[in-house]
Amino acid sequence: MNTNRTLAILKPDCVRRALSGSVLQQIENAGFKVCALHMVQLSRERAEGFYAVHRERPFFNDLIDFMTSGPCIPMVLEKPNAVEAFRTLIGATDPQDADEGTIRKRFASSKAENIVHGSDSPENAHIEIAYFFGDHGSIPVDIS
Ligand code: GDP
Repeated sequence: MNTNRTLAILKPDCVRRALSGSVLQQIENAGFKVCALHMVQLSRERAEGFYAVHRERPFFNDLIDFMTSGPCIPMVLEKPNAVEAFRTLIGATDPQDADEGTIRKRFASSKAENIVHGSDSPENAHIEIAYFFGDHGSIPVDIS
């Protein structure tokens, strides 16, 4: 299992509010290298597939509405211990609970519209990277 990579998504609120550059700057300043990146408009089917583990949650439909509300930017990030390092950088799901200086604390407006996704385990990072970059010829580059 490659523990040096994680899957991030700059969510539709990030793109809509023209914060993509600022957030990407903070990600790069924290020492992450961008190995792959593209902008996509998720269909409901693609968003539901990505968030399938949340299907039974009461907020599932709201989450799918949000994630399909505009373009988003999935990306593959590389750094030692990437999953944990990136979760630390983005902060808690609810920006009110996030540590000072984290991306969600700085930029997110609510628990629902919280700017950025980060994989929660190396296993899920592997699955999520394949979900966006595995099957259509967009292979993360080797930047090391
Ligand atoms: P994460 O791993 O920090 O992104 O958090 P979760 O896996 O618990 O939730 C996935 C995503 O669902 C979050 O990042 C939010 O965008 C959204 N979400 C979480 N809780 C709520 C909620 O109570 N209401 C709504 N509308 N969305 C939520």
